[in-house]
Amino acid sequence: MRILPNLTKKLLLATSFATFLIHSPVAAQRPPANSSTHKTSAVASVKNPARPKLVVVLVVDQMRADYIDKFQHQWTGGLKRLVTEGAWFQDAAYPYAATETCVGHSTISTGAFPSTHGMIANEWWDRDLRKEITCTYDAAAKNIAYEAEALSAPTSPTVPAANSVPAVGGDSVARMLVPAFADELKFQSPAGTRVVTMSLKARAAIPMAGHQGDAVTWFDGVTGSWLTSNAYPKAPFVAEFVKSHPVTADYGKTWSPLLPDSAYLYQKIALGAGNPPGFGNSFPHPLHGVDGNKGPDASFYLQWATSPYAETYLAQMAEAAVEKLQLGKGPATDFLGVSFSSVDYVGHTFGPRSWEIQDELARLDRDLAAFFAHLDKHVGRGKYVVALTADHGVAPIPEDLHKTGVDAGRLNAKEVTARIEHALEILDYPKPNVTPVGGADVYFTPGTSAKLKTDSHALQAVLAAIQNAPGVAAVYQADELSDRSATLDSLRAAEAADFVKSRSGDLRVVPKPYWVWDNSVIGQPSRGGTSHGTPYYYDQRVPIILMGAGIRAGKYYESATPADIAPTLATLCGITLATRDGRTLREALNSFR
Ligand SMILES: [Zn+2]
Repeated sequence: MRILPNLTKKLLLATSFATFLIHSPVAAQRPPANSSTHKTSAVASVKNPARPKLVVVLVVDQMRADYIDKFQHQWTGGLKRLVTEGAWFQDAAYPYAATETCVGHSTISTGAFPSTHGMIANEWWDRDLRKEITCTYDAAAKNIAYEAEALSAPTSPTVPAANSVPAVGGDSVARMLVPAFADELKFQSPAGTRVVTMSLKARAAIPMAGHQGDAVTWFDGVTGSWLTSNAYPKAPFVAEFVKSHPVTADYGKTWSPLLPDSAYLYQKIALGAGNPPGFGNSFPHPLHGVDGNKGPDASFYLQWATSPYAETYLAQMAEAAVEKLQLGKGPATDFLGVSFSSVDYVGHTFGPRSWEIQDELARLDRDLAAFFAHLDKHVGRGKYVVALTADHGVAPIPEDLHKTGVDAGRLNAKEVTARIEHALEILDYPKPNVTPVGGADVYFTPGTSAKLKTDSHALQAVLAAIQNAPGVAAVYQADELSDRSATLDSLRAAEAADFVKSRSGDLRVVPKPYWVWDNSVIGQPSRGGTSHGTPYYYDQRVPIILMGAGIRAGKYYESATPADIAPTLATLCGITLATRDGRTLREALNSFR
């Protein structure tokens, strides 16, 4: 099976740790402390170990691990430097099914899996509010635009307003059930730790920052504003940066390939690709909205987010944070988290084999070269540690794969709902029986939920109706997922790793491999492109690369998950996490000197 059962994985980890102890080159090469000089330095290093002055977490949204293997010949800058100077974990993957942005960022941030940290999806049905909410929705918070007055609605571009959030509230980390690494760092360090995060997405910037962020910034794709909320202070450096770097300055630019045509793998136009309106399905891509005459509007902001210009913008905002706040120069270790969202938008649209995804990464490679040079200059080489990873991977575009003869397709969420309603309608259950949430989690309405508890015939009819839909691999009931350790079924174990009874659906639907969820209206053609969010390895496998202070470069083949990043950073910083499902990646750590 591709997904290792948890128990087996733990045994393997224990074995590899034992092997490390036996073969540890650190232990073998350490000089004997037999002179007074050695004794003095040993005591000094225990008292005052060289902790990193700055922890930098870089998340490349939707970056598949194999992009490094396939595309690194196109890189000369920061991604190349990470691969050559960093500790590269090649067998890293999330062990759970909900391979989505909020879930991944919360896992990276806390060192725990979603069944522990509670951020089980980007959105879920709130049974108390009877609304679909985003993971960062907080009725008590108010969002604040850097360019203008406060906004009243939270950022939730993927949830239609009609069935999502009330018109009040904003975004915060209130629903994350455990502290972030950044929270622990700030609480346990000497006074002075600064926590700064930024992304196009609230569900990335907020979980990374935790509760104590000093500057937590995300982008509103409707108005083109940069936002924070009253859960965090308004940071003067962000205000200054967005004022001097208006996003609208990129209006009218054209995204063309950076490299010669011969450098790109695969076909120039991927079969089944989608495209933002007005953007075209192959290079060059003009950034001028739908009709090119209206000036910057939401259609331009979507194009901008689906382009390398947004990555460059975030990298430069991160550089401004380092410079203006003097990150890495304070009395305690600082934290900087940057999540590059555009790889996700480009990947959804053009797919993992597109020229666009390759070009996006090639340009991110150049942006990160400049960013690392900036850190070298302002913090100092060897004084900061970088962790690069992704929040999830992505499936190939189904039509692109299907032409090879492999079973692949689109599982229409609305059709799954229609099948359930139809099965219950025959048994005289009045509509609606399920809440309007599309995708893997099925929530019954309260009345139907109560009735089905004593009507096994109807429940079996529902399960059969879902199971018989084309592209469905399995359907689980909530009760089957509440005890993760009790199953050796890898698919069920992955589903159980992101199950929280009060938040998860009554049923969990698992597509077949290479079938992606689709939200098109039944009977209408799909908008194309691809997606993620399943328990398959192409969605679960991501890169983990550590570089800098305390890190021993090399390729590592030990099994790892992104939940290992926070425990490893905690070890480097000399702090303790309250909960963790991950481990310290000690095979990649130098002894402190
Ligand atoms: Zn995505």
